[in-house]
Amino acid sequence: MGSSRVTIEDVRPILTQPGGSRLVVVKVLTSEPGLYGVGCATFTQRVFAVEAAIERHLKPFLVGRDVDRIEEIWQMSMVHGYWRNGPVLNNAVSGVDQALWDIKGKRAGMPVYQLFGGKSREAAAVYVHANGRSKEEVADSAEQLHEKGFRHIRVQMGGYGGAAPEMHTPEGALPGNYFDPRSYGRAMLGMIEHVRERMGDEVELLHDVHERLHPIDAVQFAKDVEQYRLFFLEDLLAPEDNEWFETIRDQCATPLAMGELFNNPHEWRRLVSDRLVDFIRMHVSQIGGLTPARKAATFSDVFGVRTAWHGPGDTSPVGHAANLHLDVWAPNFGIQEWYQPSELDYEMFPGLPEVRDGYLYPNELPGLGIDIDEALAAEHPCEEIVEQWTQTRRPDGSAARP
Ligand code: MG
Repeated sequence: MGSSRVTIEDVRPILTQPGGSRLVVVKVLTSEPGLYGVGCATFTQRVFAVEAAIERHLKPFLVGRDVDRIEEIWQMSMVHGYWRNGPVLNNAVSGVDQALWDIKGKRAGMPVYQLFGGKSREAAAVYVHANGRSKEEVADSAEQLHEKGFRHIRVQMGGYGGAAPEMHTPEGALPGNYFDPRSYGRAMLGMIEHVRERMGDEVELLHDVHERLHPIDAVQFAKDVEQYRLFFLEDLLAPEDNEWFETIRDQCATPLAMGELFNNPHEWRRLVSDRLVDFIRMHVSQIGGLTPARKAATFSDVFGVRTAWHGPGDTSPVGHAANLHLDVWAPNFGIQEWYQPSELDYEMFPGLPEVRDGYLYPNELPGLGIDIDEALAAEHPCEEIVEQWTQTRRPDGSAARP
């Protein structure tokens, strides 16, 4: 080991759909027999574009390169297409990047968090999602999760944007996923108040606005919700409205978490350096993998901003494992979003971490500590569907950000 040069022999995208989300995992095979790594490249709405980017562009560029040169490979992969910072290529690069960290860990005989500098903590506190059609149902759902040991619970009612019972639409309005930003704001305040009253002050509550409010209504919402002492308010604004965070910051102390749609540091560095948000929560594969995520964590640490990496069902289990290596290492870790995997997920992805009493524990295997059962993955191919939930519309029928 060590002195012998190991090179990339093959880069293979694996597409699978064990549940609702279509996933892309990359497998990097090496010149050393039996040595390979896996990484998350999941951009669930554009899985076939990521697949093509890996097969047709990244693989020919990467075969024969030294697996140990993660940083140099990452830098060159990001500029090799000349045009950069897009989600398809970032995810493709992430799949390779995470797989190379996995390989380096296996070569070193250490979990990846050891390569980052070792543990700051034994496990990562997670938050999970409570849902319901009414505020009572949301509180019931939150109480059930609390009984299972989760102490951080995200409360949502009627899906993102809420459910407006009497949508006032014009004649001939096109089909779509309608929501009413104004009634959403009112309903959520009542729901959060109800859950807080029923569950008391000890449980940590979170809420994801999913960029559904107009900026000035978002300012008002952050002020109104301050009294319920959220752990954080998530994605209150769209990245395109970043400049409004200054106004919000000036007016309330509601903790703010931002960033699952960010692609590149130029979108978030001022939010961090001006201390306009409290948690930075990019989708790790979306920014290009573990290599840029480590830097984002360290940059944020300098400014007192904590991490809360995006961790829904459309992060692959491999991506969740990668998140956890960042979580146990980063001194400024805040919280980890967790999606409660199915039995099939655990079967298809041996080594997928487990939650016990609200904490997510890494295993101590070398590398990322996770694998993919390719035969089982092949039994669950990705559906060729057109996404419906992202076809969001405001009451007058105009297109909205999902
Ligand atoms: Mg979110």
